Amino acid sequence: MAYVDDILNDLKKKNSYETEFIEAATEILGSIRPVFDAHPEYEKNFLLERFIEPERVIMFRVPWVDDKGDVHINRGYRVQFNSAIGPYKGGLRFHPTVNLSVLKFLAFEQILKNSLTGMSIGGGKGGSDFNPKGRSDGEVMRFCQSFMSELHKYIGPDTDIPAGDMGVGGREVGYLFGEYKRLANIHVAVLTGAGLEFGGSLVRKEATGYGLVYITQEALKPRGESFKGKDVVISGSGNVAIYAAEKAISVGANVIAMCDSQGYIHDENGVDLSIIKEIKELKRGRISEYLDHDNKKKSAEYVEHDIIWNVDCDIALPCATQNELSEESAKILVKNGTKFVAEGANMPSTNDAIDVFLKNDVMYLPGKAANAGGVATSALEMAQRSSRLTWTFEEVDNRLKKIMENIYINIDKTAREYGHENNYVVGANIAGFVKVANAMIAQGIV
Ligand code: NDP
Repeated sequence: MAYVDDILNDLKKKNSYETEFIEAATEILGSIRPVFDAHPEYEKNFLLERFIEPERVIMFRVPWVDDKGDVHINRGYRVQFNSAIGPYKGGLRFHPTVNLSVLKFLAFEQILKNSLTGMSIGGGKGGSDFNPKGRSDGEVMRFCQSFMSELHKYIGPDTDIPAGDMGVGGREVGYLFGEYKRLANIHVAVLTGAGLEFGGSLVRKEATGYGLVYITQEALKPRGESFKGKDVVISGSGNVAIYAAEKAISVGANVIAMCDSQGYIHDENGVDLSIIKEIKELKRGRISEYLDHDNKKKSAEYVEHDIIWNVDCDIALPCATQNELSEESAKILVKNGTKFVAEGANMPSTNDAIDVFLKNDVMYLPGKAANAGGVATSALEMAQRSSRLTWTFEEVDNRLKKIMENIYINIDKTAREYGHENNYVVGANIAGFVKVANAMIAQGIV
């Protein structure tokens, strides 16, 4: 399809340094080609030209003072990519690898993910190259306050509602919200993932990981499979990984390996999640400390600087970061007989790795569908907050489950409709895109 190729070539020329954004755009645009034959009006309305260009990019200086009195300058960003179906929504990431390319790819993915939830939320993403690791609470607070002193001008409950992502958890959201409230003098749902005491929702913390397991269960069902008795490898040991592990274990899986950026722990008898929670959620420590704990099973090993995908498993859940699962890793998984891969992280598998999965009939659920439970529950948080109601854990969890089941039904149906049965890359991208495209056409050339 010449239209898509022209747009992609132009995008690569104009954004040649934005490798992650080019990677995401190549995957998405490549898989939505069939839509343009069915909808010639899209090309007539210059839809793709508009779709690939963020509506607004904000970039700013974030100066802050550390505990010793030294001054640091970081870069802050917010990419407001698309508001056709609702206000911008997407997390903030604080990590040294953050740059404009990473945030454009995340915001671009977020447009389609948010569309798939069935809720009225557009796509955005933001963050900073600030590294909260090893910083005191006071330093993190001063950084968050400085960051928000600029960002507050551009966000609002009906404009743009950020949330957490890597490096931004409950502590950071609390500090960011405190500063927003002071500057704007208004107590509204402007950041989701808020503490339960000031408007947060039950299940938000667990939502991405639980949602990942719910959608995977839904996809396993028609294949006559379930998590019960399966060996599962989960990369990462952060928010998404921990709650994916918790839910997987609760439905009978044996989670045998988890990692951080320095190494992985492997235990054929199943990892002890309470130890991982203590290390990561309380002490903010390294996964290598697992072996120092009073581990009743005593059968675990710690492997440093190796790829977690070398561990044999039935189900792989990449929940760490982008491009953590290469073509080589995908081949290892296939060789080891892994039949199911579902992504908790954003774009963890490279495009070459995805090709390996699809060619080898591995059931592959892409992140934009499989990890949408987090943002969906953020939207449930917004609904509770604006109605001044608080739903029970069970009520929010049931809604999350239903949303994830519907996402699976939608991407499966769309993949079939376009003649690509079982290809959930095509299913997710097309199902997410068509809704946004139709809204953009209805709103004219803006
Ligand atoms: P966290 O910061 O809580 O955890 C990230 C985890 O991944 C940490 O254990 C980290 O280890 C590990 N990690 C980072 N880089 C690597 C690497 N190169 N190799 C191996 N492990 C690595 O982040 P989240 O759990 O919140 O997010 C994880 C992913 O899920 C991201 O892609 C995020 O965008 C996505 N996501 C998150 C949502 C949410 O609700 N939180 C919603 C939807 C998607 P270390 O501590 O050593 O850095």
